[in-house]
Amino acid sequence: MAFRAPMDEIAFALRQAASDWAVEGLWGELSDGNGSAVLEQAGRFADERLAPLNVVGDRHPAERTADGVRTPPGWREAYRTWREGGWAGLAASPDLGGSGLSHLLLAGCLDAWNGANMAFMLAPLLSFAASDALAAHARPELRDLYLRRIVSGEWTATMNLTEPQAGSDLSDLRTRAEPAADGAFRLFGQKIFITYGDHDLTDNVVHLVLARLPDAPAGPRGLSLFLAPKMLVDSNGRPGQPNDLRCVGLERKLGIHGAPTCAMVFGESGGARAWLIGEPHRGLTCMFTMMNNARLAVGLEGVGVSEAAAQAALAFARERRQGRAPGSTGSDQSLIIEHPDVRRMLLTMRAGAAAARAVCYRTAAAIDVAGVDGPARLAATERAALLTPVAKAFATDLANEIASLAIQTHGGMGYIEETGVAQLLRDARIAAIYEGTNGIQAIDLVQRKITLREGGAVRDEIAALGRMMRNIEGRAPAATTVGLARGLDALSSATDWLLASLMDGRTTDALAGATPYLRLFGLVCGGALLGRAAWGAEAGSDANAPKRAALARFFAENMVAAAPGLAGMVRDGAASTLDGAGLV
Ligand SMILES: Cc1cc2nc3c(=O)[nH]c(=O)nc-3n(C[C@H](O)[C@H](O)[C@H](O)COP(=O)(O)OP(=O)(O)OC[C@H]3O[C@@H](n4cnc5c(N)ncnc54)[C@H](O)[C@@H]3O)c2cc1C
Repeated sequence: MAFRAPMDEIAFALRQAASDWAVEGLWGELSDGNGSAVLEQAGRFADERLAPLNVVGDRHPAERTADGVRTPPGWREAYRTWREGGWAGLAASPDLGGSGLSHLLLAGCLDAWNGANMAFMLAPLLSFAASDALAAHARPELRDLYLRRIVSGEWTATMNLTEPQAGSDLSDLRTRAEPAADGAFRLFGQKIFITYGDHDLTDNVVHLVLARLPDAPAGPRGLSLFLAPKMLVDSNGRPGQPNDLRCVGLERKLGIHGAPTCAMVFGESGGARAWLIGEPHRGLTCMFTMMNNARLAVGLEGVGVSEAAAQAALAFARERRQGRAPGSTGSDQSLIIEHPDVRRMLLTMRAGAAAARAVCYRTAAAIDVAGVDGPARLAATERAALLTPVAKAFATDLANEIASLAIQTHGGMGYIEETGVAQLLRDARIAAIYEGTNGIQAIDLVQRKITLREGGAVRDEIAALGRMMRNIEGRAPAATTVGLARGLDALSSATDWLLASLMDGRTTDALAGATPYLRLFGLVCGGALLGRAAWGAEAGSDANAPKRAALARFFAENMVAAAPGLAGMVRDGAASTLDGAGLV
């Protein structure tokens, strides 16, 4: 079955996320019809242009040729349509030639596009993130020369962080930046795993590179951010000579075959020309602007792949006959959708995708509000910081489980490439690894995020989720509200335990429980949001309302039901986790 971006559900979930805040001038597009038109076109682009190319990319991986890296057949044409559609500048400021629409609306579009073709969307995803970093930190002349062309889609951008000895921990990066007489810098070093580090979609590629200046202090505080284009350009932006940097190899990998993953070398012949972005030694701060938005965008990869997997599994289960379901009276084989265990898998997929979507959109809405001067800014900044690791890791962990369940639903046919669900699992796998592994996201949540304002930010968020739950009491089924309330208690007590452990200096114990805590957070947050969408004040009575209620109920009564167990793992799991005997 062909993928169909669920634009009605996406639009509904966007309005739900926006309903939390009343900020003047924000999200007008969600109510003035402009947003509906954008979403409709985004859905059409996903269904008609991107989805058919997904399997093409899987079967014809990006290739390194004598003329540079070549993307799969049809991708150049799709990129041209993408660019001509003005999508590259959707959320960029009109001053830079962008459309100035919200991150929330962009999240809805990314959800649809990622579901259609995650590997293709990695090029735009990195450009969106780089645009944010350059808009915030680059000098005006660099913005004019490079950022405008990224915003128009004329060029794409990359993120060059990883080196063989420095992945999760960037403090050991070795790429050097030397000041040159012309006021620019020269880069020397090697980067690995650089997504779209070279390709044929555009004439130029703008690399954002973390490197170390000669006088840099050791460790993460010594890193600076540089811009190094693939092609050097004149003052009008016309590409001329190639810069001293190149892709020296492409990785063969489990999934996202269409997206080139490049080994890059800088400075083989005198140094790659580069320009400093932001202050010297403040590169990580600049990069975090980029990484936070990229982390949410990777969470949205999880949402998109989950949606695609759930759609494929449901379509299969409606056609495949096998066995006799309990209670079936005829002699014919039953459709597998009639088997309780298959229903469990299908509902887990659909409810999980909806919950991950809601958590990611809540994060996107907070990012938008955090960008507007006003009384809500501080609360929104805290919520965005708190939820970004949850959105990234919860959504991508679920995507792996949901893609795996889609294979399981297909039985043996799922393991065969022809059905396409195997590709979804292979593609989704990386989303839990790049942009900070999910383990690193969990550590970020526990060590840096729940400690914000001495626990004040996380307690405010838990209180907000509690209000949502109380508001649906009486309308939601009793077992649903009880399930949600138990989840909230579990989250609250695990949070208190972690904060107390960190205060007492028992950091190792706290970190041992970081991953179950992040899952607990995602489940409770997702459960509250699905409950609000089903029975809250703005739940609506459209044709999809009964489905939303069924998914919210399943999620609360079956998935949030794991919350007390997860809280127990957070509190009591450290001793057995840290007992070294099992590993020797
Ligand atoms: C297909 C692909 C595309 C990529 N694209 C890019 C890109 O465009 N740009 C870029 O710069 N990089 C990119 N990367 C690199 C990616 O971000 C890193 O692989 C990732 O950050 C993990 O680093 P690592 O591979 O060195 O693993 P390691 O850091 O060695 O981690 C190995 C394991 O140890 C765990 N671990 C490490 N440190 C800690 C810690 N302190 N506490 C607890 N656990 C820890 C990790 O969670 C992981 O499970 C890409 C990678 C791949 C495979």
